[in-house]
Amino acid sequence: MGNFADFHARSIHDRDAFWAEQAKWVDWKVQPQQICDYSHPPFAKWFVGGETNLCHNAVDRHLAERADQPALIFVSTETNQEKTYTYRDLHAEVQRMAAVLQDMGVVKGDRVLIYMPMIAEAAFAMLACVRLGAIHSVVFGGFASHSLASRIEDASPKVIVSADAGSRGGKVVPYKPLLDEAIKLSAHKPGKVIMVDRHLAAFTPVAERDVDYASERAKHMDAVVPCEWVESTHPSYTLYTSGTTGKPKGVQRDTGGYTVALAASMPHVFEGKPGGTFFCTSDIGWVVGHSYIIYGPLIGGMATILYEGLPIRPDGGIWWSLVEKYKVNVMFSAPTAIRVLKKQDPALLSKYDLSSLQALFLAGEPLDEPTAKWISEGLNGKAIIDNYWQTETGWPILSICNGVEKAPSKFGSPGKAIYGYNVKLVDDQTGEELTGANQKGVLTIEGPLPPGNLQTIWGDDARFVKTYWQTVPNKLVYSTFDWAVRDEDGYYFILGRTDDVINVAGHRLGTREIEESISSHPNIAEVAVVGVADQLKGQVAMAFAIAKDTSGLTDLAGRIKLEGEVMKVVDNQLGAVARPSRVFFVSALPKTRSGKLLRRAIQAVAEGRDPGDLTTMDDPAALQQIVELVKA
Ligand code: ATP
Ligand code: MG
Repeated sequence: MGNFADFHARSIHDRDAFWAEQAKWVDWKVQPQQICDYSHPPFAKWFVGGETNLCHNAVDRHLAERADQPALIFVSTETNQEKTYTYRDLHAEVQRMAAVLQDMGVVKGDRVLIYMPMIAEAAFAMLACVRLGAIHSVVFGGFASHSLASRIEDASPKVIVSADAGSRGGKVVPYKPLLDEAIKLSAHKPGKVIMVDRHLAAFTPVAERDVDYASERAKHMDAVVPCEWVESTHPSYTLYTSGTTGKPKGVQRDTGGYTVALAASMPHVFEGKPGGTFFCTSDIGWVVGHSYIIYGPLIGGMATILYEGLPIRPDGGIWWSLVEKYKVNVMFSAPTAIRVLKKQDPALLSKYDLSSLQALFLAGEPLDEPTAKWISEGLNGKAIIDNYWQTETGWPILSICNGVEKAPSKFGSPGKAIYGYNVKLVDDQTGEELTGANQKGVLTIEGPLPPGNLQTIWGDDARFVKTYWQTVPNKLVYSTFDWAVRDEDGYYFILGRTDDVINVAGHRLGTREIEESISSHPNIAEVAVVGVADQLKGQVAMAFAIAKDTSGLTDLAGRIKLEGEVMKVVDNQLGAVARPSRVFFVSALPKTRSGKLLRRAIQAVAEGRDPGDLTTMDDPAALQQIVELVKA
């Protein structure tokens, strides 16, 4: 056990020595000659001159010691399948997939787009790509053809790997028609489409283009496909951001820096040990899935659970039953999933033996206090660790790092800046650094961004510089576009996105603060607050809330009563300036498929504007409800 403050300070002030040490977690074919080249800011190159391979580090290197240990545990409550692949099995499957990709002409540097449900073949495809030095671009399965088409155009893949269908809540979701339509819409056409046929939805293959994975795989049962050693800076993959605030950005990741960052995070952040089991409930279409369903746990020699299904089917105990069955040590999920579970019978939590579990990590959106308390009590005081990051960063920026030094969590805070991150809060108007406690500023990172972070936006260096590095006046710093404060102990609290700040008669208010306040009313389950243009005050807050008990809301009087109570709570906690002009009650809130509130769309609709790019929205009916309420 060390001292976290020292560990962090060394990562910044003795940067190269610190990361040279971390690089030892990784197998290199050729050792790096230079740890960090930051001669052309803001473009950072990590472990320059080094050669490695992500698939080697995730799979092959473990064969000597743990060939017969579980590596990938595929569980589908949609198709009732459950299969464990040892490291030996995984090695064989990845080489079969790699051989098929090679047959399709895939070589180092080619892009391969993966549009798949949460099945084992999706993991094989990702690992096979990086094995060959090909650049994968996973697109969240079930995205509509329009969003898929724009990503196909942007990544211009030689090959697409897909499947006939996904399944959600027991309902088959055909992928093939969406894919065919997307390819039709896209100016770029892939040479081949590899189809994994799950026999869920019948389809007609396109002649000359579509190939059946099962028959191709059968030709390569004994495939031996060596890892292609690539330069550390060689791109491993591209991945699009969630699209919460607008057009998604194609984040480009390197190989060496990413491998080192994930390898080091396993002991330091997650306390994951080789031979243990990691269960990340995200989706491979998101960054959390890339880093902590696939690469992180495997690099760390752990078994990883790939789960297809809902958290509440067959019942709300399914995840905990998997924790018991596979002796999960580290679990990773999102607040939105915990809020779903919160509506279930709490007895489901005590039904299973969860003694193997060390900690539950949560990321992706603010972890509100009621949800944090609920899960913390439900898990009997086990560590609940909120961590804050972005698609761009590839691994957490803020967290408690119990693997370096045990530290308590604080409700509402994702903890401190992680080693490698030189986090600064700055004034958005002047760019001045805010060094005092409890000052509100934009959370920025001083360059070079640490290993594992984005190298650039795919094919658009100018957009990378302009989007992230030129928004704070007088300074070249990376902006996260999130507001935060830091308390006297160095714990950060995220207050919301910079474009979620409301300016009411000259007072700047974070929508998050108002949401927290409204959530403290005992009958509010969830709420979204947006700023709406107002002639008199510039902007006013407007709230859309989901009530826990809706029996009192069937008539106008009941709604007015609860609205009044909510307003009073805000008055008392934050003052009258923060009081929402209206509180509307809805049954669902519009979210992205990764569970993030689409405030941008709610705000547009509340102001009577067009909601813009909605390609990543999950449930259109939720937004429609708001359209109608506001119109009335
Ligand atoms: P886009 O950039 O396309 O608009 P996005 O920002 O939602 O979409 P992601 O990279 O998936 O895409 O999400 C990162 C953002 O999620 C962060 O910038 C922050 O706003 C929010 N976030 C992530 N983790 C946390 C957390 N632990 N607490 C609060 N907010 C979080
Ligand atoms: Mg973002």
